[in-house]
Amino acid sequence: MALSRIAREVKTSATLAITAKAKQLKAKGVDVIGFGAGEPDFDTPENVKNAAIQAIKDGYTKYTPTSGAPALKEAICEKLLNDNHLKYTPSQVIVSAGAKQSILNIVLVLCDTGDEAIIPTPYWVSYPEMVTMSGATPVFLKTTDREHFKITKESLAKVITPRSKLLFMNSPSNPTGMVYTERELREIVGFAVEKGLYVISDEIYEKILYDDAQHFSPAAFSDECNKKVITINGFSKVYSMTGWRLGYAAGPEEIIKAATNIQDHTTSGANSITQLAGVEALKGNQDSVNKMVREFDRRRKYIVERLNKIKGISCLLPQGAFYAFPKVSDLYKRKIAGQSVMNSFDLVNLLLEKAHIAFVPGAPFGSDEHIRISYATSMENIERGINRFEKFLGG
Ligand SMILES: *Cc1c(COP(=O)(O)O)cnc(C)c1O
Repeated sequence: MALSRIAREVKTSATLAITAKAKQLKAKGVDVIGFGAGEPDFDTPENVKNAAIQAIKDGYTKYTPTSGAPALKEAICEKLLNDNHLKYTPSQVIVSAGAKQSILNIVLVLCDTGDEAIIPTPYWVSYPEMVTMSGATPVFLKTTDREHFKITKESLAKVITPRSKLLFMNSPSNPTGMVYTERELREIVGFAVEKGLYVISDEIYEKILYDDAQHFSPAAFSDECNKKVITINGFSKVYSMTGWRLGYAAGPEEIIKAATNIQDHTTSGANSITQLAGVEALKGNQDSVNKMVREFDRRRKYIVERLNKIKGISCLLPQGAFYAFPKVSDLYKRKIAGQSVMNSFDLVNLLLEKAHIAFVPGAPFGSDEHIRISYATSMENIERGINRFEKFLGG
């Protein structure tokens, strides 16, 4: 069959196979403890749900403008000003069916065949596939635990070529949980912009921060940065709204206009009801966010402490998001429960089949030495799961 270039080149989600297998086991009645969740285990706040119900009752059930309902775009501009020191008008904002769609729109607007897009590794699984769809080439910039999974101006300088068009930044990071300081961000993004690159700043975990970590939006650093940085954000993580599908991009009007043209002919505006719920999420009481972050913080400390006590495992303390990303490669090349484990897929598969714990391999995030453990699950599950993990490796 003669499939298109995109169909041939875009990979299936490698994490999906593992998730499917975990589901199969569960369906058979096996007590699988899941650590794969890429979404909060909290319910969408009540005030947000009520706003959606009201939107339906009020008949707000028709197409909205492609780039978003005016009320939501106003609320987003207000949020960006208050939280992020970003001055945008509604014409510089596009609302999409999730931050994922906003990012794809921007990649398609900026990247052509022959261009290079720089992706710091470990990365969120969709970035390379989006670049591939555009026809451009992903260029990976590897980082390790030793540098806390952070790129620097110097490491960036080594991969920039005349074809470099775009840099992805994601702080707080999925999967590493690392957060860049203001100084680090200023240096990296300032340098990228000086070299003529555009920057996608994926800030979807901005409010899920621990200890004294702070969030900064690089588009606010200078006029030059403002012209080159596109800020991405959404509702999925901070407001536990993954199923609602709502996210947005803010940036130079010309780029947003082009993104709107693409969305005009793909999905049109995001769900009208969801958009009014989004207004309430931004403008309403924020207590649920604080409550969720406090609970994540408790789990984070517990899980990292436990992981670091297991021989062969080392884990940095995440400063944001809800993932631990321990290094497990010291477990490779030796037999575990009589089976040889060579990489993150082997380890995750073995743990699922034999210990009934579902982690996510690091390889699809660009780092085979690690696994991703989401702590968006109850403290009870975390305790039971890590007990099993420890016992399985020790026994
Ligand atoms: C979850 C996630 C997104 C996309 O979220 P949407 O549900 O599409 O809004 C984007 N970037 C990162 C890093 C994520 O983890």
